[in-house]
Parts: sequence; C-alpha cells; structure tokens
Amino acid sequence: MKIVVFGAGESGTGAALLAVRQGYEVFVTEAGTIGSANRERLLQANIAFEEQGHTVKRLEMADLIVKSPGIPDDVPAIRELKSLGKEVIGEIEFAYRFLPPGGKIIGITGSNGKTTTTLLTYHLLHVAGLDVALGGNVGRSFASLLLEAPRDWYVLELSSFQLDGIQNFRPDIAMILNITPDHLDRYEYRMELYAASKFRIVQNMNAEGICLVNAGDDTIQARLALTHSMNQWESIADTQIQGEELLSAGEQFVLSNPMLQGRHNALNALFAIRTAQLLGIPSDRIQKGLDSFVNHPHRLEPVGTVEGVAFINDSKATNTDAVFYALDAMKVPVIWIVGGQDKGNDYNSLIPLVREKVKVIVCMGLDNRPILEAFGHLGKPIIEVQSAQKAVNESLALAEKGDVVLLSPACASFDLFRNYVDRGDQFRSAVALLQTKERERKENQKG
Ligand code: ADP
Repeated sequence: MKIVVFGAGESGTGAALLAVRQGYEVFVTEAGTIGSANRERLLQANIAFEEQGHTVKRLEMADLIVKSPGIPDDVPAIRELKSLGKEVIGEIEFAYRFLPPGGKIIGITGSNGKTTTTLLTYHLLHVAGLDVALGGNVGRSFASLLLEAPRDWYVLELSSFQLDGIQNFRPDIAMILNITPDHLDRYEYRMELYAASKFRIVQNMNAEGICLVNAGDDTIQARLALTHSMNQWESIADTQIQGEELLSAGEQFVLSNPMLQGRHNALNALFAIRTAQLLGIPSDRIQKGLDSFVNHPHRLEPVGTVEGVAFINDSKATNTDAVFYALDAMKVPVIWIVGGQDKGNDYNSLIPLVREKVKVIVCMGLDNRPILEAFGHLGKPIIEVQSAQKAVNESLALAEKGDVVLLSPACASFDLFRNYVDRGDQFRSAVALLQTKERERKENQKG
C-alpha cells in the first residue's frame, strides 16, 4: 500500500516514519522547506520527499493520504486528490490505527488551557508511577510516540484541526475544557462549526468512556443537547473552587503552585485531578503532583521583578478569553501590554476588568486601531510601542512599586514577531536587561 503524507513537520514526519515501520511505501510532500532535523529523520529512513510545492501527478499513486493538521482541507492539491476518490485522514487517525494493544488514551481539547492541562495530567500520572507518554499538539506527535516502546497511557493534546481529521479515533477519557471564539477563519466564522469540531473528540466513544466537560461553558452546554455520544459525561464546575482549595469527588486539594495562578488554572487542575482520580491515583500522590508541576513558559509566567514591579509573560494569550482570566488573576494594579495582529476580536467582555484592574494600556502592534477603539473611551492613559524592549521600558517608567506589568496580548504576534514564543522571549530578555542594569546601579551605589 502506498501512502502520501502532506506536511513534513513533527506530525507529518512522525506519520511517515510510522508508515514505513508498518511496511507502507511512503512519499512526503511539503509546500514549504523541510526543517533540517526532520529532513535528517526522513533521509535516515530512506523516505522519498518533495518540498516547495505539491506535484499532484506524483501523488496520484497514493492509496491513502495522511494530512498534517496545519494544512487546510481546501488546499488545491488535497481537493484534487479527494476528487479522484482518495481517502484523506489526519495524522492522529493514522497513528491511532497502530495503538499498541491495551494502550489507552486521554484526549484533551478546548479553546484555551489544552497545553497546561495536558502537561499537568501527564505530570500527575507520571509522578504517581504510571507508564505514560505525552504528546499530540504539544511536544511530540502521536505518531512519533508510537515509534517507541508501547505505553499504558497516552495523554494527548488535541486541537480542532487534529480532530477534523479523525474517523475512528477514540479516547478512553476525553476532556472538553471550554469553547470560546478562536480560529474562526477556518470554520466559515461560524461558532457552531468550531464547536462541532471540538465535539468530534467524543464521536466514537462508548459506554465505557468518560468525557469531562466544563459546566460553566454555555457553548459546551448547548452542544451537549445535540450529541448522541454514548460515553459517560461528568461536569467540572467552578463551585468546586473554594479559594486555594479544590474539591473533587469528595476529596480536597490545595492549589498553591505559583505556576497555576488564576481561576482558569484552578479549572484546568480540576480536570487533571479528576482524571487522576478516575485512574485510581490516591489523593496524597495527586497533591504532590500539583505542588511539583512546572508549566511551559509564556502562560502567566513570572519573569522577574525590577524596582519592585513584577513582570508577567502571558504571550500565549492570543484571544480575549485567555486575557480575561489573566486580568482576573491579577491582584495589584496592572500595566497591560496588549495588541498585535487582531483576529477580529470582540473586546467587550474585557471592559469591566480593564476598568477595574488596568492603570495604563500599552499597545504593542503595527496597527493599534482596534485596541484604541475598544478601550480609548475608558479614560486610561494609552501609549503605543512597536517593540518588546520599548514596551518593557515604557511600562516600567509608568509603573509604581507594587504594580504588575502583564504582557497578555489577545492577538497573534506575526506583525512584529516570528511567533508568540519569540514575543515572550523578547519580553523576558528585555526584563532581564533591566534587572542587570538595576543590579549594576546598586553595586555602583555600594561601591
Ligand atoms: P492552549 O494549548 O489551549 O492554547 P495553554 O495552556 O497554552 O492553552 O494556554 C493558552 C493561554 O490561555 C495562556 O495565556 C493561558 O494563561 C490561558 N489559559 C489557560 N487555561 C485557560 C482556561 N481554562 N481558560 C481560559 N484561558 C486559559
């Protein structure tokens, strides 16, 4: 059987290697340039590939097409191959066909909090001594994980693009954390299509499966009425959050880990805790995991203090819902760095929090009109900058001791930065520079 893989990133390369391992003849096609690490992986496995475009004539021999999640369905080459009757599936679906016997899956989706909840769930299981792997939309692709020794559990972050490409994929435990507007450009700007995509996670589940959902999310609750999935539903509600205490199935946990500030992270933690409980992990082990968890950077990441002003990097907050929770978590006056490439945001939900918590608005984007229009009438000082360095310096100049400077942009980063990681890294470096200057100044004064 011949397989063509579209895309040679982590997902596509993983799928190609897995396909070869399973005895398929494989060809990889990439619209851009293949990165050096993946190119090396393909060459080592003797996998043929093309880059800088898809040659449909060359792809017509495929019996099956495996598509990386970043590639939309309406790419002309894919459409053409579909019209020739070729089966097109996503990398997650392909990998699932080779799940080792007895291997079980925890699938996590939602608009925000997927990575945090996936990492935390993995961590709780891992420190409790379970045999568990982590991947999907974070770190290594599902296909890459299956190239290694079989595990008992696979904890997978699943984006809506990945779920769009499944047919029979079936998690044993699923989580739908929340559904708020994001990526609507890929869903005809229709929330119901985006929500339906997230709900694909349960489409193949049976009575043995369990799906945890957010009780307070109106989109999820409305959608529940429309699903015919046979799995068991369990709700996670914010009434289970009582200050630092979290209640889950009659047990109490304390969430004091600074990496998990804010109500959103308390909810994320409740999803992870409940999953650990369903797997029979005792409460004291779960608590240990909560205390020792380290999150990925760029998610409400404290990056240092200068002259008594704390700086927080929330560069991953690329939609208004993430910013809502970030502002909600702030306990002192905020200098708010916001802006970038606007995705047609509706900023109304942020207005009460901005009014209450924000002292100064620092717009960091090429075109700041949407921010100025949304918040200009609040009477707060607003300045405009076009680099992270400038944003940090100006913020410090405008801050008083005890304030916090929060980068939580609500927008994509591509106008001024390579991506959200670059934006967060530049923010962190700018803060580090000010810290060095502060240290030098203090040393000079001493000297
Ligand atoms: P995802 O993988 O879904 O993008 P992340 O864990 O990377 O989620 O977090 C993305 C952004 O959303 C960060 O700014 C984070 O602080 C914020 N966030 C995390 N969990 C939630 C949640 N449950 N609801 C809203 N925002 C959240």
